[in-house]
Amino acid sequence: MERTQKSTKRLNAAKELSRVVGEYYLECVQAKEEGKPVGWMPPMNGAIEIFYAMDLQPVFPENWSPVCAAFGLTPANFEVSESMGYSRDLCGYLRNIIGYVHGPMNQNDLPLAALPEPDLILSPNGGCIPVMKIFHALERRFHEAKTIRLDLPQVAVENIAPHHIQYAVSEVKRLIGFLEKETRRTMDYDRLQEVVSLSDRACALWDEIMTYRSYIPTPFSAAEMGIMFVMVTRQGTQVAVDFLESVLKEVKQRAAEGTGVIEKEQVRLFWDNIPLWYNMGIFNYFEKHNGVVVAETYSAAWSLRLDTNHPLEALALKSLKSYPLVSCVSINQRKDMVFKACRDYAIDGVILHRNKSCVPITLGQMDIKKELDKELGIPSVIIDADHMDERNFSPAQFQTRADAFLEMLREKKAIN
Ligand code: SF4
Repeated sequence: MERTQKSTKRLNAAKELSRVVGEYYLECVQAKEEGKPVGWMPPMNGAIEIFYAMDLQPVFPENWSPVCAAFGLTPANFEVSESMGYSRDLCGYLRNIIGYVHGPMNQNDLPLAALPEPDLILSPNGGCIPVMKIFHALERRFHEAKTIRLDLPQVAVENIAPHHIQYAVSEVKRLIGFLEKETRRTMDYDRLQEVVSLSDRACALWDEIMTYRSYIPTPFSAAEMGIMFVMVTRQGTQVAVDFLESVLKEVKQRAAEGTGVIEKEQVRLFWDNIPLWYNMGIFNYFEKHNGVVVAETYSAAWSLRLDTNHPLEALALKSLKSYPLVSCVSINQRKDMVFKACRDYAIDGVILHRNKSCVPITLGQMDIKKELDKELGIPSVIIDADHMDERNFSPAQFQTRADAFLEMLREKKAIN
């Protein structure tokens, strides 16, 4: 197996996705050229809906990192950030984006036209430390951009209390006030409600698409995870709804016809942690052994429904829940989520990606591993890698562990 490899996709939606991705990045560049304010922000919070409601352009540096990985641009970006003194032990998103903005950003030959410089920066006081540090570095790099530091309590999902929601709502209102002042645009609250409805519709479609993965054989695998691009960058728009409707139609049809990812699906797998963005082909590797990755932790972050009658509260709750749900902030909730997926999707084995450059999502995996074995009798394997840095991934070591694990799962199934 190669260290970097693209995945083989089965859904026709993959072609459509390339168009959606291209159009989004083109729109970002055009927005800048046309004088529409461009804001850089972390993903997985309620700011995206506010931006679309106010006709502002949201840009997500973290999302740009997987794009860089897919196009083989990360080594150049890492070289720049490491020459600035950033350690190889730090988050790959951080090293990539800092290297990018201090290096290749202004080259003309980048794919997808590169990112436009920010007029606004939404700097989070919440989420993990690396994400905060990314934005502190961006504030220094783009010091002319208007910046707001947004506070967010870090509470496990099960411990969110009314006062946390009230505080998060006050922060949503502070963000709207900041944007109104800096962009001289006024929030239209009817429009915000429409955007939140579109956002909620996208979540409902997302959930429905995921339920079809419980079919045996599953109609699509983790190799198609790129479809989450619309949840990161287009939530709250008709583009996301239209795209997800077309995915749902295709997935539904494949499920009804019994068209699986592979001819002989023997082993159903769950993937924990972020995928290897430079090697999505890793998901196809299991197929050679009649295994398919039918569910993963990362996709759960997008299955939050929004109360469209209370848009501000809905966005506050979304901001409070999204990150804890997939990280170590809410280990119990994450464990429940993995267990539920194991039952709903008839999982035979769990792959725990021990991600060198993402401690917040890796923490807690050993507890989950023990509990999986004890409570559900489901075996798991640890794969050492990195979601961004291919230097921390050994294909040979991966193959040895994956082959042994799949063989054991097949034998276990045959005995049962
Ligand atoms: S959650 Fe992990 S991958 Fe995301 S910014 Fe934080 S350390 Fe990096």
